[in-house]
Amino acid sequence: MYGMYLVLLLWGVALFAIRRDLSLSWTEPCLRHPVMVFEGDDWGYGPLEQIDALREIAAELGVHRDLTGRHPVMTLGVILAGPGAGATADEALGVGRVALDDVRLKPVRDAMTQGVGAGVFDLQLHGMEHYHPEVLARVAQVDPQIRAWIAGAPFVATEQLPSPLQSRWTDASALPSRALDEADIRARVAGEVAMFRQCFGTLPEVVVPPTFVWNESVERAWAAQGLAVLVTPGERYEMRGADGLPVDTGICLHNGQRCTSGLLAMVRNDYFEPLRGHRADHGLESLATKWAQRRPLLLETHRSNFVGAKAQRTESVRAIGDLVSAALRSQPELRFLTVAELARHYAQGGDLIDRRPWTRTMALLHRLDRPGRRRKIFGGLAVLTAASAVAALVTAT
Ligand SMILES: [Zn+2]
Repeated sequence: MYGMYLVLLLWGVALFAIRRDLSLSWTEPCLRHPVMVFEGDDWGYGPLEQIDALREIAAELGVHRDLTGRHPVMTLGVILAGPGAGATADEALGVGRVALDDVRLKPVRDAMTQGVGAGVFDLQLHGMEHYHPEVLARVAQVDPQIRAWIAGAPFVATEQLPSPLQSRWTDASALPSRALDEADIRARVAGEVAMFRQCFGTLPEVVVPPTFVWNESVERAWAAQGLAVLVTPGERYEMRGADGLPVDTGICLHNGQRCTSGLLAMVRNDYFEPLRGHRADHGLESLATKWAQRRPLLLETHRSNFVGAKAQRTESVRAIGDLVSAALRSQPELRFLTVAELARHYAQGGDLIDRRPWTRTMALLHRLDRPGRRRKIFGGLAVLTAASAVAALVTAT
C-alpha cells in the first residue's frame, strides 16, 4: 500500500517538474487535419538566377492539389534591399543601396507575384536587408572579406555573410552582440514595411526575423506597423553569444500564442533543405510526428538550395515535388494553406481547430513525449506504477 503512495508521490513530483510545458502543450490548439507548408527564406534582393528558380518551384507546386483543390504553398521570406555600387562600404550599404523596387529586380517581383496569383506562394516580410547596414559598414572597415563581398554588388547573395552578421536585429560587430537603440529599430521597421508596400502594393501580415534573433522592441515595432503574425523557431533568441551562436533566453513560444507585443506566434518545427540531404522520407516522418501532436508541419527551407554556387536547383525542386506527392499519398486529408491563413484559424478558432477532449488528450501525450531523459523518467514511472498495481493485487488476493 505504501508503495502505491510512493509511486503517486513520484508522479506528482515528475508532473510538477514539467508543469509549464504541460500547461503550454494543453493550451496550444489542436488541428483537425494535417497541414504542411514550405517556408522559403531569403528571396528578393540578390542574384538574378532566382527568377528561374522561383518559376520552377511555382510550376512544381502548381502540379499538386489537396482534397479541397488547393496547391501546396511556399511562403517567401522577402529581403527588400542589399548593397549597390559605391566608392566606400558606407556608400554601397547606404545611399547606393539597391532595393527590390529597382527596375532591374522587376522580374524577381513579377515571379513572386505571379506565384502568389497562382496560389503557390505567399509573401512574408523577412527584412529590408539581411543584416544591419551600419553594423556591417563598421565591420567592413576592419574586415577585407566583408569589403570584398560588398565590392561584388549589386545582387550579391547575403547567404555568404558570416552568420552573426546576418542577424539584422542585434549589433554583432563585436561578440557577444549588443542590443540596438530603440529609435533605430522603430525607424528601420517603418522603412521595411513601407518598402514592402512599395514593392507589392500590400502590407505584410507575417514577419520572419532574420536568423531568428530579435527582441521585444522589434516585436512591438512590427506590431505598431500592422504586422499580425510572427514566425518563430519556438523560442525567442535576442543576441549572439561570444561563440557567435544565438543565446538561449528560455522565452518559449507555441502555435497560436498571443505575444505581449500583440503578434500571434507560429512555430517552424523542421527543416527541408535538399542541399543538406533532406528528401521525401525525412519530410514524411516529420509530418507523421507533427500530425500525432495535432500541429502543422512548417518546413524551413532557403533560397540557397535553389540559387548560388552550391545550389542543386533541379534536384531541390524535384525533392519538393516528391515530398508533396508522398505526403498526399500517406495523409490523404492533408491541407495546404498559407501561414497567414493558418494563423487566422488559430486566432479565431476556425474550422481547422479540433476542440474534442479526446483529441486534445492524445495530442498532449504526443507533445510531451520527447526523446531523452524525460521519456526515460516517465517510462520508468509507468513500469513502476504497473509493478506496484500488480503487487497490490497479489497482496489483496
Ligand atoms: Zn534568412
